[in-house]
Amino acid sequence: MIQDIYPSKYHNEYRPEAAPAASSPVLCFEADKVFLKESEEGVLKIPVFSDIGGDPRYAFAIDDTEYFLRKGVPEDREDLKAFNIRRLRRSGKMTNVEMFAIFTAYHLAIWYHSTKFCGRCSSELTHHKSMRAMVCPSCGLEVFPRLNPAVIVGVINSGRLLVTKYNRPDADFYALVAGFVEIGETLEDACRREVMEETGVSIKNIRHYKSQPWGIAGDLLCGFFCELEGSDVIKMDAGELKVAQWVTPEEVVLQPDDFSLTCEMMRMFKEGKI
Ligand SMILES: [Zn+2]
Repeated sequence: MIQDIYPSKYHNEYRPEAAPAASSPVLCFEADKVFLKESEEGVLKIPVFSDIGGDPRYAFAIDDTEYFLRKGVPEDREDLKAFNIRRLRRSGKMTNVEMFAIFTAYHLAIWYHSTKFCGRCSSELTHHKSMRAMVCPSCGLEVFPRLNPAVIVGVINSGRLLVTKYNRPDADFYALVAGFVEIGETLEDACRREVMEETGVSIKNIRHYKSQPWGIAGDLLCGFFCELEGSDVIKMDAGELKVAQWVTPEEVVLQPDDFSLTCEMMRMFKEGKI
């Protein structure tokens, strides 16, 4: 999965005093594109501070490498090109560590970009001195990076798995039932509700599998396996899905990369490990 960067290690401690070295990678985004350096041979690299400049803010470290975020787009730099992050994910041109850094930095960049004013009194927010947070100098409101908790549910019924495809033109690959956790729910409640809403079936024996940060959507995904309870007749929510069906391990078609928790869960089922 995208966060599986072992033997490298992600360090999330907040270090507002950290300053970039010339060789520090600096991530800079414009909408859903990231600026990268492309060599004549087509090799892509995250630019370093001496490439991209600006006044970047510390983001996180992976091993001893400190990553920074640059506000504002570099101008007139022919050696830097903007690449769509979703297409980059499928390109196979970046390492797992680089893709994890890009997804995670994007999550932070979007949050900083959309967290400029106090939602309570409208004053301009400033950076908190010691925590990764924004704070209102007028009313004291503290705003922390936003995570959207969501569940992914692998429903198993007598050796078959419930797979779906989202009702979107770009949803070419199989997925599992998934959705956001709502206020007042447990994660298990969200599993039961999402499976019922999207496919009309009931579930039991809900057990946690793994979780995953998915920075490109600002999500924290929690994966669960469970069993069907009662009727296996699917009543698909056609507004949300274009496919909902029971498949055998042989029939599971995996996504082309192994970044997502959804794909890992389908692979575990396909390989008979669940
Ligand atoms: Zn305020």
